[in-house]
Amino acid sequence: MNTAPARRLDPSAAAAPFDVERVRADFPILSRSVHGKPLVFLDSGASAQKPRQVIDAISQCYEAEYANIHRGVYELSAKATEAYEGARARVQRFVNARSASEIVFTKGTTEAINLVATSWGGAFLGEGDEVVLSVMEHHANIVPWQLLRERTGIVLKVVPTDERGAFPLDAYEALVGPRTRLVALTHVSNVLGTVVPIAEVVRIAHASGAKVLIDGAQGVVHQPVDVQALDADFYCFSGHKLYGPSGIGVLYGKEALLAAMPPYQGGGDMIERVTFERTTFAPPPARFEAGTPPIAGTVGLHAALDYVASFDPAAVAAHEHDLLAYATERLGALNSVRLYGTAPGKAAIVSFTMDGVHPHDIGTILDRAGVAVRVGHHCAQPLMDHFDIAGTVRASFGLYNTRGDVDRLIDGLEDVREIFG
Ligand code: PLP
Repeated sequence: MNTAPARRLDPSAAAAPFDVERVRADFPILSRSVHGKPLVFLDSGASAQKPRQVIDAISQCYEAEYANIHRGVYELSAKATEAYEGARARVQRFVNARSASEIVFTKGTTEAINLVATSWGGAFLGEGDEVVLSVMEHHANIVPWQLLRERTGIVLKVVPTDERGAFPLDAYEALVGPRTRLVALTHVSNVLGTVVPIAEVVRIAHASGAKVLIDGAQGVVHQPVDVQALDADFYCFSGHKLYGPSGIGVLYGKEALLAAMPPYQGGGDMIERVTFERTTFAPPPARFEAGTPPIAGTVGLHAALDYVASFDPAAVAAHEHDLLAYATERLGALNSVRLYGTAPGKAAIVSFTMDGVHPHDIGTILDRAGVAVRVGHHCAQPLMDHFDIAGTVRASFGLYNTRGDVDRLIDGLEDVREIFG
């Protein structure tokens, strides 16, 4: 397992300069071609590619240290359990949680939000209680609340956005009232790149006595997250967007909240004592981790967090900012391109349309040129409705992207223009 130091939390560690070519060398997939062209991968917002360090950690787990956890008395099981709980401790440090028992492993962000909606929402929300969302939410942070609304009669309130795709704090504040029990917002919009001012969001919600859940699927990728400083009640994210494996994610929840929540699923590992008359449950986090978890997934996540933390966050931010500024400038110079999401301080995600060309056609032509972008509604149909469009083309940048990648995107768009006239 990769045990690189957590530079973020160790100011004495020397910060390596950010060398994108060295970073690229860590990602084996980036050396392959697609349709005979070197791959340009601009879809990290959907799922990031994996560095050798993560791939090796997962292989090592299966080759030398694999067994089921928590149940075995034998050496290998003890080692696997140690790795699993070690990954939990790594996540704790990564988001600066107070305790490792505030870290629940889930399949990903989607499952984490469903867990909170079903367990916390089901136990503590009732008819007329209000949950505040925003128009820029991913479906993962809309549908679980609608399902809860069907069961309990809660009311959903939706924060709008403006032309630039900014988050209007005043409109949000106006929606938070005495019936607001929960504010559930994305940290960073997966379509617009808008960074929601979550510290302010939390302050306003808490002043009204509401809890806050932050969907950090995109947020945790683009900036360090300190859950204690943010004071969010729940924060969730997915390993696969953070250069780790798919099938593993995290729900951070404040200890007292998790302790008061009923189980989400029943099964092995989440119990204290089972009889046919009555079952008592384990304390968190085990209470929410029924069944055999993705053991190798947590090992891969651990390696991914080590990998991300091995970079100076300021250098990463500068790199991503440069890519965003360059892409925005070059796209803006193309006639007929319309950008969505121009809020100040946004993350390195650009969404656009081209007059008279369907996003799917653009995506297909770019693919032939070796450039992978996402097209469509990006699981944010209410946001598409807001802008009155069917979809966009989205380029989302990761650690390994370069200005040369942006140039290839622009070349591909020029091909699109030629084909469509
Ligand atoms: N929330 C946001 C903002 C996302 O971008 C995504 C995925 O694209 C999700 C939630 C869902 O993440 P997952 O599919 O990993 O559960």
